[in-house]
Amino acid sequence: MLRFNNISSYHNSLLAGTISCGQVIDQYLEQINQQAHLNSFLEVFADDAKLRAIELDALQAAGKPLGKLHGVVVGIKDVLCYDGHKVSASSKILENYTAVYSATAVQKLLDEGAIIIGRQNCDEFAMGSSNENSAYGPVKNALDTSRVPGGSSGGSAVAIQANLCMISLGSDTGGSVRQPADFCGVVGLKPSYGRISRYGLIAYASSFDQIGIFAHTVQDAALVLEVIAGEDNFDSTVSAKVVPSYSEVLQGENSSSNMGPKKVAYFKETLTHPGLDPEIKKQTEDYLASLIKKGYTVEAIDFGLLRYLVPTYYVLTTAEASSNLSRFDGIKFGHRTKDKIEDLTDLYKKSRTEGFGDEVQRRILLGTFVLSAGYFDAYFTKAQQVRRKLVDLTNDLFSKYDILVSPTVPSPAFKLGEHNHSATEMFLADIYTVYANLVGIPAISIPLFKHSNGMPFGLQVMSASFNELGLLQFSNELMKSKQ
Ligand code: GLN
Repeated sequence: MLRFNNISSYHNSLLAGTISCGQVIDQYLEQINQQAHLNSFLEVFADDAKLRAIELDALQAAGKPLGKLHGVVVGIKDVLCYDGHKVSASSKILENYTAVYSATAVQKLLDEGAIIIGRQNCDEFAMGSSNENSAYGPVKNALDTSRVPGGSSGGSAVAIQANLCMISLGSDTGGSVRQPADFCGVVGLKPSYGRISRYGLIAYASSFDQIGIFAHTVQDAALVLEVIAGEDNFDSTVSAKVVPSYSEVLQGENSSSNMGPKKVAYFKETLTHPGLDPEIKKQTEDYLASLIKKGYTVEAIDFGLLRYLVPTYYVLTTAEASSNLSRFDGIKFGHRTKDKIEDLTDLYKKSRTEGFGDEVQRRILLGTFVLSAGYFDAYFTKAQQVRRKLVDLTNDLFSKYDILVSPTVPSPAFKLGEHNHSATEMFLADIYTVYANLVGIPAISIPLFKHSNGMPFGLQVMSASFNELGLLQFSNELMKSKQ
């Protein structure tokens, strides 16, 4: 059995001829089968993946140049289009919908030799923090199946945690890559807004959404990022900024040490929040103290806006979602009711009521409300103003510091069913992660800690917009010193 450590050692084994892509795919397919109870994959593209592995092995045998991700086994969250394959956003409304093109990120993976092994379960339309909102059943945390994996990209996180693939692509609108990465003890990276094309990503909130990467190591996440990032004619919000060779820089630093950023800040209020688990607080504080001993500058700064983050996020994202999801009406896209209908409005109502789950309906209603004529200024405009303030404050912060840290989530993975009776209780899980999406900066969760209840938890690291390089260098250093 292949023990996957990282892409570079996997490539060494392929080149040495000790394994082949074909053997590796068979092993992963078997492993996925054995772990089917986790409900991580909604569909496994077994035949496709096997064929592709054979093609890739033939390429290597013919001495052809190999792609950066040659034979890398990737799972994709069920919100990413892959031409000719089903994609449902874990919703009944898109059940049996087949993608007619591939997302740019997926295409770029394929162009570098990756094998897409299947589509992964998630919260419906990426709305949720526990993966309990999927129309196809919850995902279970592989370390303790009575606990959630986090959400919304829960299936993608568990697939890495349980070694069901080498890399997963998820999406992160308010924490959906970092929060499940924290709960599952893996690396979860959300790049800057505009770093990766969103073409072919089913939209939740377009000014927040960003494709993210789950990996076993920071180095692997860096390699995948450099493959999928960059300008795209199909998405005008992607930056034309040059994409650095992140993985090469990191590779160089693995031999030297302490090359990355040194000035670290944290928001005082994130560590004094009453909802923060005392052990997460203690371990994070101790860790920050140890960084000072290692020569980093670590300073606490005041941040009076913490309590506005979650409300601002939910006003703006639901507003955008209500607009984005209007296309699923039974005519343009999605399930159409079989019931008797009276008129067009009735068709819309019945199709959407049958097709969408409770949480998605709740958010469409909330979003429509905050955009309605009488309340627009009180909610939507106000929230936009808060967002602007946050951006200004963030620019100021990164003119003085390189890195911002916080816990990723205030609690470790909770039990299935523990919070799904209360939307507001569930929203607390997002308190530390939504900030990066509100201001568009890159953020990563790195699995540094273990709670006394046996569950892992992470440290969230953030940097200035488009400074993924600094973010990855710093995170790589912390991960190296953990080993
Ligand atoms: N938990 C957050 C929400 O439900 C984040 C979701 C996400 O990032 N897609 O909106």
